[in-house]
Amino acid sequence: MEQPLRVKNGAVLVVRLVNEMRPESILFCPRCGTAVQVEFHYGQQRPVCPACAWMHFADPKVAAAVLVERNGRILLVQRANDPYKGLWTLPAGFVNAGEDPAAAAARECLEETGLTVYITGIIDIVAGREHSRGSDFVIFYRGNAAEGEAHAADDASDVGWFEPGNLPELAFKSTTHILTQA
Ligand SMILES: [Zn+2]
Repeated sequence: MEQPLRVKNGAVLVVRLVNEMRPESILFCPRCGTAVQVEFHYGQQRPVCPACAWMHFADPKVAAAVLVERNGRILLVQRANDPYKGLWTLPAGFVNAGEDPAAAAARECLEETGLTVYITGIIDIVAGREHSRGSDFVIFYRGNAAEGEAHAADDASDVGWFEPGNLPELAFKSTTHILTQA
């Protein structure tokens, strides 16, 4: 979706929105409980409270993932839940509010595989929501895993080390993009 945005000097900037905004999803002011009105502010339709002037800014949902290699093989987890249940992906999950995304990637890897990883760098940031409950963008890190065997847990049903040329069926376009570029 492309949306023309008129900026202060009269120029028109066209921004490509990777996801359509849904201002109507907020019905009541979370601060005072008054029914909100949808008004155009800062280039978008936004829910605004007529009683206390609270304005809703929809924030992006952010995920972090980590690519861990050991002896030339890549650590992948099999998804235990829908969507894409049974397909494989990098250890990943949502970044909590206030959390360092690198720490979130390491935390998710620990939760899903039992392996402690040390983030060593960033690979890329991939934008685009792939399903309704997905993230708006994923930050992909590279990391080294401490010694030890990986065990599936949390929202992973299995875990494995795969040769880059012999990957199982992957869950997400972003993961596929990273694993074919990295
Ligand atoms: Zn209010």
